[in-house]
Amino acid sequence: MAQKTVHFETLGCRLNQDETEGAARSFLEEGFLTDLEPLTARSPIQENVALGVVNTCTVTGKAEQKARRIIRLLLEKCPNAVVIVTGCYAEVDPSSIKQIDEEKIAVLPGTKKYLLSSIAKNFSVNKNAELKKITIGNVEDLIESFCKEIESSKDESNTINTQNKKSNLKLDAFTLYTPVFEKHSRASIKIEDGCNNSCAFCRIHLARGKAVSLSVPDVLKRVKLLENNGVNEVVFTGVNLSQYSGLKYDDPSRKEQASFAELLTTLLAETKNIRFRISSFYPQYIDESFCNAIKDERVQPSFHLSIQSGSDRILSLMNRPYTAEVVLNAIRMIRNAKGNPFIACDIIAGFPGETEEDFALTKKMCEKASFSWIHAFPFSPRPGTVAYNMKPSIPERVKGERVAVLTDIAVKGKIAYINSFAGKKVTAIVENSRSLRLSKNNPFEKKYIHAVTSNFIHVQCEVSTLDIANCKYKPGDVVDIVIQKALEENIKSGAEIEALATVNC
Ligand code: SF4
Repeated sequence: MAQKTVHFETLGCRLNQDETEGAARSFLEEGFLTDLEPLTARSPIQENVALGVVNTCTVTGKAEQKARRIIRLLLEKCPNAVVIVTGCYAEVDPSSIKQIDEEKIAVLPGTKKYLLSSIAKNFSVNKNAELKKITIGNVEDLIESFCKEIESSKDESNTINTQNKKSNLKLDAFTLYTPVFEKHSRASIKIEDGCNNSCAFCRIHLARGKAVSLSVPDVLKRVKLLENNGVNEVVFTGVNLSQYSGLKYDDPSRKEQASFAELLTTLLAETKNIRFRISSFYPQYIDESFCNAIKDERVQPSFHLSIQSGSDRILSLMNRPYTAEVVLNAIRMIRNAKGNPFIACDIIAGFPGETEEDFALTKKMCEKASFSWIHAFPFSPRPGTVAYNMKPSIPERVKGERVAVLTDIAVKGKIAYINSFAGKKVTAIVENSRSLRLSKNNPFEKKYIHAVTSNFIHVQCEVSTLDIANCKYKPGDVVDIVIQKALEENIKSGAEIEALATVNC
């Protein structure tokens, strides 16, 4: 029986990537081959792909454009495949996606993405004597019947009551999960989904629904499995980790919930060596209990704050529940707890009504905060959001200029941050290693290791020629490196490698 391949494409955030790895795991366990290598225009035609899965994003119009391009590319390169399109874009705009190819595309709403594991079971290669043909009809019928099951297992508060359901359909947002990562040297674990806020520019909370959390015992079980599998670092993923409120106990009669800080404290107490990295957090939730929890050296000193503006007037128009002073105080508290951590942030430039004075306040806050990096984005009006119809809108040229100003501050901040570690030893996780021949006629090679430091710097370490033979580092290994200097041109151009370092083999 020819083994069938499922090809996965993922757009957007680390959470989406995490879920795709989980979905791939489900198909692998059912006897399929899985391929997570992104297709390109130069990719060959792949006749053996029976199913394609595209996990989409809706954070900007560009992300949706890219999704449509990738869907068309998958249809072209995998002519025998049925394509399931899921994720946030599929949740908010299923009809536009279906119109790309009515005959071959099945849309699975992002909030029901977890059904991919049940779809894998249904078409299981292992369990079915006669391989169920994967056709658009079969897939759509399956999604429809699963969705009916979900509706019938909802109680009066519209919550899925897993007791009600007739079959062993897995119905929770944490179903897609894997203890083994194909595409990443550092593992990640989804602990939260959805968001209870409604920021004026955001479509994510519309696509992902209200905040839900994986219980503390379940998070601990999964982290311990990763640690036992020799994983050295795990990244927490979610839509709004700050709203984590998982049940503290397995006992269904106990309803006490844990905050993120309480979860982290429990994980640190119940595990040995695994390191923890926090993907993104909100400034208004940085409090004493959070700072006490992150003091532990196993919590990596890199933090990403979702900030968006330094003008209190704009923050209020965005419906963000904090001020610039709260942001600066949060940064002070993190630095008190962690010394010299890498602190990055997101800023939206050109939100409707943003005056030169507002932008000057954002610039001033960024300079005062000395961020190690700033992800600056031009405001992108999203259909269905409050800000979509807000006026006056800011000309694209002005948005671009403001993004450039913030990026310039970011580049200076990152160079200064990296050079503040020159000559210092830090730990890092190996991403990959490669050898380069010095020249065509010269048999000697140079070996380089690409690693990500605990404080989130992507470094290139040259392995001295003497050590090449016994330098056996592999992706995921922990290494001690000494930072040499920032690679300024690389940082300006956005190249992945940002600094040079040396490694002791
Ligand atoms: S906090 Fe705001 S921006 Fe973030 S996911 Fe929630 S609604 Fe969207």
